[in-house]
Amino acid sequence: MQCPICEKGILKKGKIKETMFGVYLGEFSADICSNCKESFTDEKTTRAIEETAKKKRIWGLGKKTKITKTGNSLAVRIPKEIADFLKLKNGSEAYIHPEKNKIVIEAGV
Ligand SMILES: [Zn+2]
Repeated sequence: MQCPICEKGILKKGKIKETMFGVYLGEFSADICSNCKESFTDEKTTRAIEETAKKKRIWGLGKKTKITKTGNSLAVRIPKEIADFLKLKNGSEAYIHPEKNKIVIEAGV
């Protein structure tokens, strides 16, 4: 089958190493493009990845948040689930820097 992304490569069965939020989930079978290396998983595998992420308590950690004004600065509200995952608490130190259109906040520095 031809790759629907680059339309140049051919999809071949293979294994992908899946990670979510930097946590390794394991190896899963997928169709991988011979040209652009894009991988496609079927519904069953997609569900298995989801189940593994839930078991590791990282499913749904990506969330919308609001940026609010505090004095002359802006503050980002960190949802409780993310704070718990990173073991952040009030007064925790972190390193913040931009990366293109992202804000990276490194915990435990
Ligand atoms: Zn491709």
